[in-house]
Amino acid sequence: MNFSSRLVVTLTLGCICVSVCLSQSNHVETRSWEDVAAKILEIGLREGEAYAMLEELTTKAGHRLSGSAGAAAAVELTRQMMSARDFDNIHLEPIMVPHWIRGPVEEATIINSQSMGSVPLSICALGRSIATPTDGIVAEVVEVKSFEELRAMDDEAEGKIVFFNRAFDPTELNTFAAYGGAVDQRSRGAIEAAKVGGVAALVRSMTLAVDDVPHTGAMRYEEGVKKIPAAAVSAMGADLLSDLIRQGESVTVRMKLTCQTLPDVPSANVVGEITGSEKPHEIIVVGGHLDSWDKGAGAHDDGAGCVQAIEVLNLIKKAGLTPKRTIRAVMFMNEENGTRGAKAYPIAPQREGEMHIAAVESDRGGFAPRGFTVQADSIVLEKVQRWKHIFEKIDAGRIIAGYGGVDISPLVKDGVPGFGLLPENHRYFDYHHSDHDTIDKVHPRELEMGAIVEAILCYLISEEGL
Ligand SMILES: [Zn+2]
Repeated sequence: MNFSSRLVVTLTLGCICVSVCLSQSNHVETRSWEDVAAKILEIGLREGEAYAMLEELTTKAGHRLSGSAGAAAAVELTRQMMSARDFDNIHLEPIMVPHWIRGPVEEATIINSQSMGSVPLSICALGRSIATPTDGIVAEVVEVKSFEELRAMDDEAEGKIVFFNRAFDPTELNTFAAYGGAVDQRSRGAIEAAKVGGVAALVRSMTLAVDDVPHTGAMRYEEGVKKIPAAAVSAMGADLLSDLIRQGESVTVRMKLTCQTLPDVPSANVVGEITGSEKPHEIIVVGGHLDSWDKGAGAHDDGAGCVQAIEVLNLIKKAGLTPKRTIRAVMFMNEENGTRGAKAYPIAPQREGEMHIAAVESDRGGFAPRGFTVQADSIVLEKVQRWKHIFEKIDAGRIIAGYGGVDISPLVKDGVPGFGLLPENHRYFDYHHSDHDTIDKVHPRELEMGAIVEAILCYLISEEGL
């Protein structure tokens, strides 16, 4: 045997299959999956690079809404990060993306409060919103907690600013479930308000934090329904409005937005991989979304998921592992306001002859990982749950059926098993889509642990299949 060439060792010990490939090694080494996981963990904790990459992404590209200069910089920066680490098949997959801009002015002021006089509110336009007329909108505010309540008002909301103020349910242990219970107000508020003659929508920020920072996010319009401007108001602003209304005051707000939608612009998904040694056409995708909202720096959402995807490949290389199947990092573009990258990836010309066997996504923040969701049939779930003990050793043994993620959902729809990293979630919505989503809110070790969990998962899938 030529010991300078790649060595492949496969044997079976009881029910545990041991299969380790070592490149540039001068001795045969066999390790259990536990040992491989321990090696990835050790390298990640000792010399992980996820945080350094996130620092570079959030400082050099900054926030990076689709179509912005930041988004273009992020495409080039992540391409370079993969190139510097000598990954295979690094390339861009071009797409066209929407180009919505916030504009310089977004203001709202309570102008007629008897008890407080004129009070400014912290607001920000919701993504895709139209602007107000140049002079702004001045109208009385009507508060509702649900669309049903709004529809039951007859013409009471006509000519008014409709204020949607259903807060997150604080008793939900999973903050994503709390988000899910409130986010219809942000996405459909302008549609429902317009249907009853409202002139604008003002939506309580999607957060559990009680502070004065508004949280943006996508909203939409419906064909045949008048488009009206929509903005988020900070939780403190929402509480103030609600208090005044409850005290019986008639509250009038002046609101001005200058956002606009410009023509689509070219952008790209960014792709790099470790090509599989035995089954190169069988692909395991690991990804996050490269775009972010134009608030903060998109550190948790989803810079974390992008640098973790790059770090997965980095850790596997550094551990001297040569996966049988291709493990591919994909930085998807435009998750926040169009999902054009997610939709384009499965149908790109590069997919010719490829077979995807798994898709892994991290888009729930860069917090300490506790496990992952599996969006696949029960056979795949049971197979992956047999690896539970490996993940339990690193406090990430929560392997449950559940949604994988937005960017991998077109692949999952085509039958590819999806996996979504599950980090601790209590603080995520304190930062999400706001000026608070900055690198100082991300803990280097927690971020790296997410990459470690993904690396172990991707490598196990690569060696054992699903
Ligand atoms: Zn996200």
